[in-house]
Amino acid sequence: MEDQSEPCQCLIAGGGIVGLVLALALKKHVGITAEVYERAEGFADDVGAALGMYANGLRVLRDIDPKLMEAIKDAGRPYGYRRWERHDGTEIAVASEDVLSADDSELCSLGIRRWRLQKALYNAVKDAGIPLHFSKGISNVIERDDDDRIQVVFADGTSRYTELLFGADGGKSAVRETVAGGTYEIKYTGVTCLMGMSDCPSPQEGISFPTSEQTQCHAVYFPTGTDEQCFQIHIPTKEDEADKTNWGNLSAVEGQEEFARVAETMKKDGWHQRYIDPLHRVEHAVKVGFCLLNPKLERWVYGKNRRIILVGDAAHPPVPYVGQGAQMGVEDVGTLTLLLQNLCCSAPGNLDFKRLDEATKLYEKLRIPRVAMILDCSQQLGKLQESRTKTSDCGLSELLLQGEVMLNDTLPVMFPGATYNYRVEVADAITDLEELRAKLDDRNAFEDLMARAGDIFGEYEHPLAPSSTHSFRPATAVRTAH
Ligand SMILES: Cc1cc2nc3c(=O)[nH]c(=O)nc-3n(C[C@H](O)[C@H](O)[C@H](O)COP(=O)(O)OP(=O)(O)OC[C@H]3O[C@@H](n4cnc5c(N)ncnc54)[C@H](O)[C@@H]3O)c2cc1C
Repeated sequence: MEDQSEPCQCLIAGGGIVGLVLALALKKHVGITAEVYERAEGFADDVGAALGMYANGLRVLRDIDPKLMEAIKDAGRPYGYRRWERHDGTEIAVASEDVLSADDSELCSLGIRRWRLQKALYNAVKDAGIPLHFSKGISNVIERDDDDRIQVVFADGTSRYTELLFGADGGKSAVRETVAGGTYEIKYTGVTCLMGMSDCPSPQEGISFPTSEQTQCHAVYFPTGTDEQCFQIHIPTKEDEADKTNWGNLSAVEGQEEFARVAETMKKDGWHQRYIDPLHRVEHAVKVGFCLLNPKLERWVYGKNRRIILVGDAAHPPVPYVGQGAQMGVEDVGTLTLLLQNLCCSAPGNLDFKRLDEATKLYEKLRIPRVAMILDCSQQLGKLQESRTKTSDCGLSELLLQGEVMLNDTLPVMFPGATYNYRVEVADAITDLEELRAKLDDRNAFEDLMARAGDIFGEYEHPLAPSSTHSFRPATAVRTAH
């Protein structure tokens, strides 16, 4: 069904964490009300597992609205400590989590149920009057030849025109597939994660990372409330042994069966009871195979006038060992909306596209290397954790870990993610850009002057000219040469 209404200015594909933060940031920083289109039928309470939020992402949320950040903090549980342990409960190293938000104590890292985060964002989206349409899965994106509009086609056969399209539709993005399909594959990394929630509180404070040589796996346990915790067991599983058909949310019975098997193995392998108890009271079990894009995307902005922009997992699915996947998407949003505010917006709500090219190029320039670096950090940490599960490497890896924590107050691989301030990076980039433009303007003015002088004096080398390009040439001759 062809859309007959006025095109919207900004359309966001996907109402996940990043899509909702983007809608809020566009409203706050650019004064634009985007339309959000989400494939799911709605958001439900008490579903799915949990994730960690860090200072770098919380900073973006606070800049949108300090009340929103408070609501998110209230819905989660601060970590306080980061612990590396053996499966039997022996402590290898412990760090205070404060070092990751040292410049700003409001931004301490926390664990939060995914649905609670989504709900806080959705409430803010509703309060801001931003329309979100459910049951609207995007199936195709068509660029029109005759104007700048983009036609977004939905699976139900309807469509909507927009001037600017943001693909925030996650790791299996349909927007990415239509604009960059064929340039990458989604590749399984060889690690499957079994994750779940439990109403069994942890007897110790903080996020902990036990590993086991016997069970040959590493795990994460973190609190999401006073009486609940999330656990993720990372199990190396070869491609041909990974049963991809059962990835996703497991039914209550499937979850209990899977975790009962894991708990039995853990008991046999001598895991401390505090790691086994929550598995017996698992709720909301999820099984995920970690997948990356291969190769990584070299571009995140597409379309003849650079009006299709990827953000979050649609641009860069993560491996989650440093807990920075969603934070990277939230940083994308902070960066992109500040660039639009500075370069494409003369007054709130007044978006013009004259400098969109510059804004989106800067977005790619700032974000692509940053996200690649954080992904490297995450892979490094995954390797370190895996090496602790191998008898041949475990001793050395633990010594290394202890040394690093002693010297740096935490594992240094955690710093690049959490301590980043997107505002500083954007401000520096815009200053550089404006300086460059000023230099170009000066140079153009100088060239013009020379050309005008050439028109008057004819062509000859001026003794003070720094190079032949600065000799007087008739402007007409220069123009003809072009
Ligand atoms: C085990 C695990 C642990 C993790 N832990 C952390 C952590 O501690 N900290 C952290 O920051 N990150 C973590 N992550 C990563 C984080 O979950 C993702 O990076 C984040 O959810 C990405 O958000 P997104 O909005 O880009 O994508 P998604 O969350 O995938 O949202 C995409 C949205 O788009 C919708 N959608 C999909 N297709 C379409 C379509 N065709 N049309 C319309 N809508 C569509 C989906 O329904 C969904 O609502 C973890 C990931 C995993 C797997």
